[in-house]
Amino acid sequence: MSPHSIERWQRRLTIPAIAVASSLLLAWWAFPVGVQPWRSIGIVSAWTGTGMLTIATVLMVREPHLTGALGGLELCYRWHHRAGVLAYLALLVHPLALAIDGWKESPRVAWQSLAPWLQAWPVWLGWCALALLMIGLTATFASQLPYRRWRGLHALLGVGVLLAFSHVGALLGEPAPSLGILILGMFALAWRIMGSDLGLAAAPYRVTAVTNPAAGTIEAAVSPCAAALAVAPGQFVLAAFGHGKHFRGCGEYHPFTVSRIEAEHRLRLTIKALGRCSQNLQALEPGVLVHLQGPFGSFLADTADGPELWIAGGIGITPFMASLRAQPRMQPTTLIYLYRSAGDAAFLDELAMLAEIDSNFDLIAQATGNHPPNVEPLMAKVTRLTERRVYLCGPPAMVDTLVPRLVELGVSPGSIHYERFDFR
Ligand SMILES: Cc1cc2nc3c(=O)[nH]c(=O)nc-3n(C[C@H](O)[C@H](O)[C@H](O)COP(=O)(O)OP(=O)(O)OC[C@H]3O[C@@H](n4cnc5c(N)ncnc54)[C@H](O)[C@@H]3O)c2cc1C
Repeated sequence: MSPHSIERWQRRLTIPAIAVASSLLLAWWAFPVGVQPWRSIGIVSAWTGTGMLTIATVLMVREPHLTGALGGLELCYRWHHRAGVLAYLALLVHPLALAIDGWKESPRVAWQSLAPWLQAWPVWLGWCALALLMIGLTATFASQLPYRRWRGLHALLGVGVLLAFSHVGALLGEPAPSLGILILGMFALAWRIMGSDLGLAAAPYRVTAVTNPAAGTIEAAVSPCAAALAVAPGQFVLAAFGHGKHFRGCGEYHPFTVSRIEAEHRLRLTIKALGRCSQNLQALEPGVLVHLQGPFGSFLADTADGPELWIAGGIGITPFMASLRAQPRMQPTTLIYLYRSAGDAAFLDELAMLAEIDSNFDLIAQATGNHPPNVEPLMAKVTRLTERRVYLCGPPAMVDTLVPRLVELGVSPGSIHYERFDFR
């Protein structure tokens, strides 16, 4: 195994290793002695569920150092969802196991432990938490929901987590070492809301220029007002634009990949009109204050010799632009740039010029109209395809279509890296 693949596996296994180890530790610590088996299951499932809920909450804290150590924001989000589902299942087992335990005494006792209206308020909190977690999780799986509605329903999970922690805290009654798990979870929730959603951890930048590299696309140059973010090519930031003289920003954080890193930490962001906020940003003007969080991501960060193939779909060109603009290519690199029509393809002229002056860089630019690309003839233009490390960036549909085709054509799955312009 190459050092590169070992590093990749280490990155992938960090979160599951922490999750499994802490759950086993909690289950071992919580295991009651001299208690009926179903009651034991009820207690252990409650604690492992609480532990998983804490892990899911920590994984949604968008802190650059933390996400970097855990393998990147995308990986954190993926495990945030998995830990959330596992937590819900464990917490569902908790009341059911207690009811089964009560059944042995009498069906009435079993029913009493399940009927919330027969219980005190701490148990009410638990039932409300479970209901909110169920609604939030159902929304998580509804990928067809419009993004904003999806996010609103997903936010119910935050309330569910708060109620679940309050339920455990109220039942604990007095301070105990296990309270540490709740404090960690609460701290993570507060950090996410205040640091990230409300932007207290964001760095202020000012928009200094705005250009139009293609139809329906702007490129904004931004300069730091105070401490700057240390961004590397391929990384993205979360940006919330404020108001200007005529411009009204939507004020919420959206992910954008940096398309150029300039002297004195100035950055450029290239933004395509894809929805309500990015459409509004087409009217952005110089002078607007923008708050940036990050940087996030490790796309294009692996350093290895050998030829590379880059595939960009539409606005997925931005990470490659940042890299090409930073320095000439050190290894043979072919960029396949797919777009609907030349009019909405940003940076075509600049890329053609870079391909002329950089002997290591080749450009294959192709307009595909509204159809998916014809993969075989495209790949036939790429020499030494199976020796290349492949990087793809673009809409999820493009990534989902191309990755299996590349594998069929002999590219090893371990050599394929991608960034989807989508977070759910
Ligand atoms: C890692 C990453 C890097 C990106 N880089 C760029 C880039 O360089 N240039 C560019 O033009 N676009 C980029 N995008 C896409 C960009 O973030 C979305 O187009 C933008 O957020 C759309 O918001 P909207 O309100 O205009 O559209 P909506 O219609 O509200 O959303 C359209 C889609 O954008 C995504 N989206 C919307 N809001 C958010 C949010 N707050 N957080 C995360 N995703 C959201 C969702 O997938 C949604 O389905 C990137 C996305 C990701 C995940």
